[in-house]
Amino acid sequence: MSEPFPAFDQPRHLGPAQREQALAEFSSSEFDLLVIGCGVTGAGVALDAASRGMKVAVVEQRDIASGTSSRSSKLIHGGLRYLEQLNFSLVKEALRERSLLLQTVAPYLVHPVRFLYPLRHRIWERLYVGAGVALYDALAKLGGNKLPVHRHLTRKGALKEIPALDPVSLVGALQYYDAQVDDARHTLAVARTAAGMGAQVATSMRVTGFRQEGDKITGAVARCLETGVEVEVRARHVVNATGVWTDLVEELAGQDSVEVTASKGIHIVVPQKLIRSATGMIIRTEKSVLFMIPWSQNWIIGTTDTKWDLDKAHPAASQTDIQYVLERLNSVLLSPISEADIVGVYAGLRPLLTGESDATSKLSREHAVWATAPGLTTVAGGKYTTYRVMAKDTIDAVIEDLGGGFRESATERLPLIGVEGYEQLWTDRASLAERHGLSVRQVERLMGRYGSGVVEVLGILRSRPELSAHFPGSDDYVLVEAVYAALAEAALHLDDVLTRRTRISIETPDRGLAAAEAIAPLMGEVLGWDDSALARELAHYRARVEAERDSQRQPDDHTADAARIGAPDVRTAGRL
Ligand SMILES: Cc1cc2nc3c(=O)[nH]c(=O)nc-3n(C[C@H](O)[C@H](O)[C@H](O)COP(=O)(O)OP(=O)(O)OC[C@H]3O[C@@H](n4cnc5c(N)ncnc54)[C@H](O)[C@@H]3O)c2cc1C
Repeated sequence: MSEPFPAFDQPRHLGPAQREQALAEFSSSEFDLLVIGCGVTGAGVALDAASRGMKVAVVEQRDIASGTSSRSSKLIHGGLRYLEQLNFSLVKEALRERSLLLQTVAPYLVHPVRFLYPLRHRIWERLYVGAGVALYDALAKLGGNKLPVHRHLTRKGALKEIPALDPVSLVGALQYYDAQVDDARHTLAVARTAAGMGAQVATSMRVTGFRQEGDKITGAVARCLETGVEVEVRARHVVNATGVWTDLVEELAGQDSVEVTASKGIHIVVPQKLIRSATGMIIRTEKSVLFMIPWSQNWIIGTTDTKWDLDKAHPAASQTDIQYVLERLNSVLLSPISEADIVGVYAGLRPLLTGESDATSKLSREHAVWATAPGLTTVAGGKYTTYRVMAKDTIDAVIEDLGGGFRESATERLPLIGVEGYEQLWTDRASLAERHGLSVRQVERLMGRYGSGVVEVLGILRSRPELSAHFPGSDDYVLVEAVYAALAEAALHLDDVLTRRTRISIETPDRGLAAAEAIAPLMGEVLGWDDSALARELAHYRARVEAERDSQRQPDDHTADAARIGAPDVRTAGRL
């Protein structure tokens, strides 16, 4: 008989008991604010509101960050290329956010990353790109930047940094700094910080309609995708933060104010050892740019920009997308990367506010907040990096509509969960590793995911030391993480852990299939899965992986919905 897991019962612990309590509160209380959607925007809105003293409810139809917020390039950046579009205010704002995230809000989740820009034309290109990165650094300085500034490299210097570059057309390079984040884990940390301040967060809750008194929206109807039960959530104000689903949710309110377009971007994941480089890289493409970004033992390489009209929950890369990325990458490498070298692929949808241009890469990345109907505010557009500003602008508008009564936003000084105590623990990481029978590298990787929350995660090992074994297929992850995800991080399904709490689904050639077998019984122990639930979870995960692989073999777009190859959606489990 195994020892029971410790109880995690603080508001910040998003586990089964907390979910039940949130559902009970939804039907019994009136909230100041209901937030629909828990991507980074909705999570940010919830945190801004809760930290100003509002009583907040958040409903997410699938998993936290299951939409675009787990599928980005994972850069916290000003966007060097927006300078070319002369969008200085957007770049300056985003660079200020970069500094805040690196220094105050999420220092354990957001890390500096170096990029090399290879030059292939003499003089004019160095002058042009050099002026751009110099301006980038200058704007960053205005926002409190502490990262090193850019530097010019000779051809020899560039090859020293990236020996894998093809020297033939190379004339030199520029190197500059930006920052990166594990987007899904960061969004989770924002949501949990909001929960710690009293927000009631529930996943697998899809808004299917609105509650109305006269012409005023006074809440929403949400259906639980686990049980089919519907609840009415009463709220003085509702925020629609549903990214590429914005139009659908507006339609539920009988409105159709601004169009949000979905633009697909894909990334491939390639083992780091196959491209010898000490730095990330950015190269120009005819439409935009291509990034090669360090990611644990891999490179993340992307992205693309094409229209997507299929299932928004399951965008997938096609063969054409993959070949596009490979061709652009190989145009600068000495030894080409082939499709067989790819260990993972993912696709995401940019929520773009419709602008004048038909080409999606030219649509605005800036956000907008607007009153859709009395009692309903919508926020959309923007980029991951600026989620905090989007959230502040939204809640400012909501509070104005409510007639005031709440504090000013203070999220720029508010560290996320896991920041407090992190630095001291980092200093002590060797002894932490020794006490728990882990390597220092494993503890460092854990601290990069949980910050000071690592103490809670490792605390589970006291009663269950066998969980210090790593996931089959990846020594980056420890089994206890799957248990913690179900106990405290709102994970309800295998896919939540394999795709977002960990990123094993894009980091290993088997896409986490071996790990699935090992962690399913552990998650089932927390979530009460019987044999048939366990079998259904495994079957669905396998089908999802197969649907993704199948889409990648097709030249045209197909969704990666497992239902396409016959498996029921695990969130509705064929019951609804
Ligand atoms: C390929 C790509 C690369 C990118 N790279 C970067 C980058 O490097 N840096 C950067 O700053 N930005 C980047 N972005 C942009 C950034 O990722 C997005 O702007 C951001 O993640 C959008 O977050 P969101 O919360 O608005 O949307 P989402 O994350 O999609 O969240 C919306 C949520 O609403 C939920 N929802 C929808 N309908 C309902 C309903 N009826 N009821 C309940 N819930 C519902 C969805 O399930 C979803 O979870 C990138 C985007 C893409 C596609």
